[in-house]
Order: sequence, then C-alpha cells, then structure tokens
Amino acid sequence: MNNIHKIAVVLLAIAAVVAFHFLSFKSSPDVQISNARIGAIRSRIAPMDKMDQRITKKPFGIYITPKTSPVQPEKFTGYHTGTDFETFPEEANADVPFFAICSGKILQKRTATGYGGVLVQSCTINNEPVTIVYGHVSLKSIIKNIGETFNQGEQIGFLGQPPAETSGERKHLHLGIHKGTAVDIKGYVQSQSELSGWLDFQKL
Ligand SMILES: [Zn+2]
Repeated sequence: MNNIHKIAVVLLAIAAVVAFHFLSFKSSPDVQISNARIGAIRSRIAPMDKMDQRITKKPFGIYITPKTSPVQPEKFTGYHTGTDFETFPEEANADVPFFAICSGKILQKRTATGYGGVLVQSCTINNEPVTIVYGHVSLKSIIKNIGETFNQGEQIGFLGQPPAETSGERKHLHLGIHKGTAVDIKGYVQSQSELSGWLDFQKL
C-alpha cells in the first residue's frame, strides 16, 4: 500500500466517523423520547416490592366514611390524599422495608396523630416540585435525618409496627404526593378542590 492509498483509507475512516455522528444526531428525537419514557417509569418507582398487589384498600382519591370504608373500624371521613400499600399476612411480625420513590432531602421525620411515624421528602417529579409523605413508618428504623438525601430506590426504613408506631392503624404504607414545596401531611381532605393539591401515584 503506498502513501496515497494510506491517506485514502484514513479519509474514508474519518468520513465513516462523521457519517456515524451525523446519523446519531439525526436520531436524537427518538433518543429524547426514550429518555422521557425512562423518566416517566422512574418517576413511578415502587415504594415497596410487589407494589401492585398491595393497592387493595385505599387508592388515591377514594371517598370514605366510617360506614363505607374498606377498612373497619374506620375513624376517618374524606377523600384519601394518598395511596395505601397493604402488608401480606406473613409480614405481620416482620420488618417490612419501604423505598424512596424519588431522590430528595428529608424535610420532616416525626410522629403525627393518625400516622405514628411520618417522613416527608422533597422531590421533583415530572419537573414539578413535590413533597412526599410516607406515613405509618418506624422512625427508629430510619438512620438518616432531616436535611440528608434519599436517592430514588434507596431503602428508607421499615414500616411501623402497630399499634405504637402506626397511631393504632393497621400495618401499611400511606404514600402521599403533595404538589409544590409546602409540607402538608393531611391523609384526607373534605373536597375535590382540596384533593387537586395532591398527585395520584398510580397515574405518574
Ligand atoms: Zn392512607
């Protein structure tokens, strides 16, 4: 191979690389769509394993009264601002982990009437600021403190053990997603317009 041939081979190689980049650039809208899909899936990451089998009693937005509630006995009336994830019978006395559905800092970690332990996390979902309420959780199982970050999918801790850690409620996770940066841990509201301040986890 003489020098002219070598130069021709090098030029062809450069042309191939340029063509590859050009074609890659041309396909970028598809790449963006697939990234958006991944983002959508990731924004709905599971707070518990076997998540879909656990949403059996109180989905987001259900209106309940002490008479009509799927949970008996019931003390609440109103529209449910979160999604409840139930535990299985074999988990009654087990440590049941739950996970961060998004990445963000801990805003509150405390006890509250109706919840027992509650943790509030600041996140961004679909480019909007939200605060996440994890209710009926075991505070002593949560090693991190206010101001520290949980990454999406990271285990936060374990569910609270009734009755002391759950304010007397059954063992389950209440997951609320409140729009905006203001913390609101209400589990029920009394009107549809108030309910519009929360997001439905199952529709993310
Ligand atoms: Zn709930």
